[in-house]
Amino acid sequence: MSQQTDMPIALVTGAARGIGLATAERLAADGFHVVMTDVDRQAVEASAAALAEAGSSVEAQELDIRDERACDALLNRCSRVDALVNNAGIFEVKKTADLTTDDFRRMFDINVIGMFVLARGAAARMTASGRIVNIASRAYLGAVDYAHYVSSKAAVVGLTRALALELAPRGILVNAIAPGVIDTPILAAWSDEARAKLATAQPVGRLGRPEDIAAMVSFLASAKTGFITGQTILVDGGRSLGGLAT
Ligand code: NDP
Repeated sequence: MSQQTDMPIALVTGAARGIGLATAERLAADGFHVVMTDVDRQAVEASAAALAEAGSSVEAQELDIRDERACDALLNRCSRVDALVNNAGIFEVKKTADLTTDDFRRMFDINVIGMFVLARGAAARMTASGRIVNIASRAYLGAVDYAHYVSSKAAVVGLTRALALELAPRGILVNAIAPGVIDTPILAAWSDEARAKLATAQPVGRLGRPEDIAAMVSFLASAKTGFITGQTILVDGGRSLGGLAT
């Protein structure tokens, strides 16, 4: 790996596309060297090459966050980690009657345990200005037809709060972002019609963009943000406020 740099270093998971890719681009624009990781090696290499071509300080690393040894090995190869963005996650629509325990475990293996393994490893190596940003989901508040996803994201909120309390004495701040509906490939299952309907259900009248989340990640990842920890920031165009029906 490269990284002999004076720039702060951010490690972003699931950075080949969607929110992770936008986050890598934004963090690089805001002065980080970004280690872009993803389970899809070819995709993350292509995304990193495009950003590097445009002048960003980034590199690509293959990483399946279910692989604990690979997570620790990657952290060992990093000269430093100033900010960890735990973004990689999966989503699936399935009614509870059809959900298997394997479905549930798979969701937790990626959305929760992978996040925990990297947070534990990164925190062990971080200095006093370390930052961890976990991507949860507004779904943690409750949603129909994906109990395994909702539960996993509620666990992310709990993990964030617990780590924040443990790590605050060391000056490491841990926060979560709960995005609303963001227009990324994760929504591939939705038809154009369903997406248009979803957009009108948002108080701001549109779906979120990956850049909307990336901006908040960058704010929370900054060493200058020194008095916010353990929080889950809803970035959802106001949808969690309810109302607006009348
Ligand atoms: P995408 O599916 O567009 O991107 C997720 C990336 O993570 C993909 O490149 C995917 O690779 C990768 N990934 C999947 N599994 C693993 C793994 N085991 N190890 C490493 N990387 C993996 O999703 P989004 O950008 O939309 O979502 C990013 C995060 O935001 C997720 O945690 C999601 O739950 C959360 N979120 C998204 C919302 C939305 O509406 N988009 C709303 C609320 C939260 P591959 O494609 O090969 O699977």
